[in-house]
Amino acid sequence: MSVEFDKFREVLDSRYSQDDIALIERAFEFAKTAHDGQFRVTGEPYFAHSAAVAAKLADLKLPSAVIVAGVLHDVPEDTSKTLQDVIDEFGDDIASMVGAVTKLGKVKYRGEDRYAENLRKMFVAMAQDVRVIFIKFADRMHNMETLYALEEKKRIRIAKEVLEIYAPIANRLGMGEYRGLFEDYAFKYLQPKEYSWTQHLLEERVKKFGPAMERAIKSVDFELRKNGVQGVELHGRVKHCYSLHRKLLRYKSDISKVYDIVALRILVKDIPACYGALGVLHGLYTPLPGRIKDYIAQPKPNGYQSLHTSVFDEQGSVLEFQIRTHQMHEENEYGVAAHWRYKEKGTAPNERQVRWMEELALIQKELSTSDFMQHLNELKLDMFSDRIFVFTPRGDVIDLPEHSTPIDLAYAIHSEIGNKAVQTRINGEIASLDTPLKSGDLCEIIVDRNRKLPNEDWLGFIKTRHAREKIKDALRGSKPGLWSSLMKHVR
Ligand code: MN
Repeated sequence: MSVEFDKFREVLDSRYSQDDIALIERAFEFAKTAHDGQFRVTGEPYFAHSAAVAAKLADLKLPSAVIVAGVLHDVPEDTSKTLQDVIDEFGDDIASMVGAVTKLGKVKYRGEDRYAENLRKMFVAMAQDVRVIFIKFADRMHNMETLYALEEKKRIRIAKEVLEIYAPIANRLGMGEYRGLFEDYAFKYLQPKEYSWTQHLLEERVKKFGPAMERAIKSVDFELRKNGVQGVELHGRVKHCYSLHRKLLRYKSDISKVYDIVALRILVKDIPACYGALGVLHGLYTPLPGRIKDYIAQPKPNGYQSLHTSVFDEQGSVLEFQIRTHQMHEENEYGVAAHWRYKEKGTAPNERQVRWMEELALIQKELSTSDFMQHLNELKLDMFSDRIFVFTPRGDVIDLPEHSTPIDLAYAIHSEIGNKAVQTRINGEIASLDTPLKSGDLCEIIVDRNRKLPNEDWLGFIKTRHAREKIKDALRGSKPGLWSSLMKHVR
C-alpha cells in the first residue's frame, strides 16, 4: 500500500509472521480510509497518530492483535465507522480492546479528584485485559510527543495526569522505559525551568564523563571476554531527567553525591555470568565501599533486577555499572509488556487475570502512598474483586457491589434519579430494573419527572444499603407516620 506502511513493514518483518503483517496492513487500510480528511492539531493527517501508536506497540513486540487494536483505537469514537464495523471486520477480541480504549477516552474532566478517581477506577475496570493499558500508554505517549501543539491549559492538565497517574502505573507494571519517558515529558511542561536546568546538568555530565565511559567500555569488554563471560553486550545509559531532578531534591541539589547520572550497562547470558562479571569488574577497578546493590537476590518491589556497583577508574572518576542478563534487561525496560510478547490469542483469562490482579493490588498500594492519591484511600480498592464498575452515559464510572441493579446505580448517582427511575437501557438495550449489572456495562437510567415515589418492590432486589436507605426515606416521608406527626406536634 502506502509509503508509510512500507516503512512500517520493515520494522514488522523481523518480528511478525506474514499473516500478522497482512492483518496489520488490512487494519492500516481500514483506519486510513475511516480517518480520511481528518487532521490533528499538529496539522498532520489524523491517521499519522494511529500509525504512531501501532509503531509503539510493535516496538513493545506485542502480539499483532494488540497492534491492530492500536491502529483502530480512535475509529469508533471519531469516524463514521462503528464498533460493530470493527467486530465485522476484525472479530470480537480486537473489537473488545478497541471498545475498552474508547470507553477510557470517554471519562470527562470535572475537577481533579473526580478525574483521578475516574481514571483509577478505569484501570481497575480494565483489569480484565491489560493489553488495553498498553494501547492507552502508546496513545498517550504519542500525545505527549505532540503536546506542544495544544493550548497551555490543556497541556498542563494532560502533563499532570501523566505524572500523577500514568507514570506510577507504568512503574508498577515494571515498564521502566515508559515511566521514564512519561515523567520527562510531563516535567518539561509542568516545570519548564527546572527541566531545562536539569537537562543542562545531564548534558554537562555526559560531556565530562563521555571519554571515561568510552575507555571503560573498551577495557571492560576486553576483560570480560578474556575471562570467558558469555553473551556480553555493553552500553552507556544516561539517567532520565525527572529521575535526576527527584534525586537532587533528596540530596539537597548536591550533584557530587549522585553517582548514577551516567552509567554503564553490562548485559550477559545468565545469572552466574552476572556475578562473574561483577568479580571481573572489581578485579579491574576498585569498588566504592557500600555501593554494591544486589537487586538480583532481592528484586525491587516492581520486579526490577540488576547488580549495581560503583568503581573508581584509572583516573579516579567514579563510574556506576549495572549488570544484568538480557532477559532481565527486557523485563526492566518493558515489564509486564515483556511477558506478553508473542503470546497467542485466547490465553486462559483466568491465569492472566490472576497475575494482573496481583499487580493491581500492588499498584493500589503504591498509588495510595503518594500524597496525591491519599484522599482516594476510602475507595478501598483492595476489595475490588467483589465490585463491579458500570459506566454512565456521561462517562462516569460508578463502582457497586456485585449483582447490583440499575436501581442501585440510579441511587448511587443521585437519590432523585433513583426516586424517579422508570426504565433503563443497558448497553443500548431496554432492560428491566432488576437486571444484575456487569463490569463494563453502560447503563442509562430513564426518569419520569412527575414520578413522586420509588416502588416498594425494589427493596426486594436491590443490593446496596445506600439505595435501601434512600428508598425507605422516600417512602417514609410520604406517609403521615410517627415522624411527621411528631413534627406537627413540635410545630
Ligand atoms: Mn488516540
